[in-house]
Amino acid sequence: MALKKYIFVTGGVTSSLGKGIISASLAKLLQSRGYTVTIQKLDPYINVDPGTLNPYEHGECYVTEDGAETDLDLGHYERFLNIPTTQNNNVTTGRIYQSVINKERKGDYLGKTVQVIPHITDEIKRRIKILGTRGNFDFIITEIGGTVGDIESLPYIEAIRQMKWELGPLNSLVIHLTLVPFLSASAELKTKPTQHSVKLLLENGIQPNILVLRSEHPLNNELRKKVALFCNVDYNSVIESVDVSTIYEVPLLMQKENLDITVLRKMDLPGTEKPEMKPWRQFVARVKNPRNSITIALVGKYVELPDAYKSIMESFVHAGSVNDCRVEVRSIQSEKISENNIDSHFSGVQGILVAPGFGDRGIEGKILSARYAREMNLPFFGICLGMQCAVIEFARNVLGLEDAHSTEMDIKTPHPVIDLMEEQKGVTIKGGTMRLGVYPCNISPDSRCSAIYRNSEVMERHRHRYEFNNSYLELFEKNGMKQAGINPDTGLVEIMEIPDHKWFIGVQFHPEYRSTVLNPHPLFIDFVRAALENRK
Ligand code: GLN
Repeated sequence: MALKKYIFVTGGVTSSLGKGIISASLAKLLQSRGYTVTIQKLDPYINVDPGTLNPYEHGECYVTEDGAETDLDLGHYERFLNIPTTQNNNVTTGRIYQSVINKERKGDYLGKTVQVIPHITDEIKRRIKILGTRGNFDFIITEIGGTVGDIESLPYIEAIRQMKWELGPLNSLVIHLTLVPFLSASAELKTKPTQHSVKLLLENGIQPNILVLRSEHPLNNELRKKVALFCNVDYNSVIESVDVSTIYEVPLLMQKENLDITVLRKMDLPGTEKPEMKPWRQFVARVKNPRNSITIALVGKYVELPDAYKSIMESFVHAGSVNDCRVEVRSIQSEKISENNIDSHFSGVQGILVAPGFGDRGIEGKILSARYAREMNLPFFGICLGMQCAVIEFARNVLGLEDAHSTEMDIKTPHPVIDLMEEQKGVTIKGGTMRLGVYPCNISPDSRCSAIYRNSEVMERHRHRYEFNNSYLELFEKNGMKQAGINPDTGLVEIMEIPDHKWFIGVQFHPEYRSTVLNPHPLFIDFVRAALENRK
């Protein structure tokens, strides 16, 4: 029987303190002690999901196996815990209101006035509990997006207050994350913002049980005592979280601070056995002190915001660790790439990855990058739009199909080598209507991918509307670019590769969503290996 203990994680003082990483780290520690854990993110914005958000607004949109377009924190949860998340792991205010309004229209509220309390808060509580009942979980960690004090977070804070009351102290607790700033003029760490933030929570009826203090410098005992005194928590419940060079070190740091033991004690659970963190420790050691180093060019149009390609960046960390190699990623804005400057952009790189994306901004720079990699025999990895660009490039410059394009960019192209999928024709609504989630892919026996995957059928996650146009397949194959993976049900081409090249693979799916610390993705591992070999 699962325990069903609920842990709520809130944040105060500023956003971007790393609630997601702290939640994932705690979950990892509990998991390594043999408990089953899941993590959920509640986002206070009104979009139904982040699928319609520009990556500049919100960073990467992460896609789950069951096809939910979600917050990038779910990527951290999966990478840390190595278990898949689902539609239920990310809920937004938009989705909450959508359910409540749909019920109201059906007449389910029987003539009542529909209000934030109890109707919205009940729906929030229902969404938290659903996760607990869908799986066999000992711990359900719910992270509340935003910062305490935000108008839009209020219904969530109220829902937690009620749940905490209903569940009792042994079955629920609140971890509050705050910032302890360092004032260089007086060379002091300041606790006042934390005190104020806890006060705000108290005003809303919540006494946090554990405080995690983010800080650039270690906290001394005096400071911890002061925070404990002013914020009504015991000394052991003041946890320090100092900046580290890699997010993967945070679980080890939290272990040192006894975050897991403090949680277990408060919930009256045995915490005597040591967590099994050895493989994790070894992974972190390899990430921090690799023997080799390579540079990969990441060509995309959202490169100013590193979070926009979060899962790709993390996949390189995982694959780097397997290859005992640091992967420096040189982000290149594809709009800036032209025939005249392309050499300087790619000088000193051992491989090129062309990123996923939408729309035609910077598209010619991506196509040029694929051409450069092909002609220079430089390892090339194209993901989703990146694969489509490689196909367009090959059509134009090898097959001689002038003006070949994707109909996403040029509806009148004479050679639509990338075209809208049949089931997408007639779709007008933007939210949640792409080809989303996991689909099977049969790997072609003699392909490079077959050697890489060592598996004839794989499952990969998708997020796109366009596809390779099969009426051109024969022409491509005759001229040296071959399909290496096909959807067994629809015949859609999922992988294209150039066998006569050092390493040239384009995939229509997103391997980056599936790479975790314990299960780095084989395509990333082999791409890094090829790039490393290229350097040597
Ligand atoms: N814009 C392309 C499509 O919809 C690629 C999408 C992507 O890269 N995720 O097919």
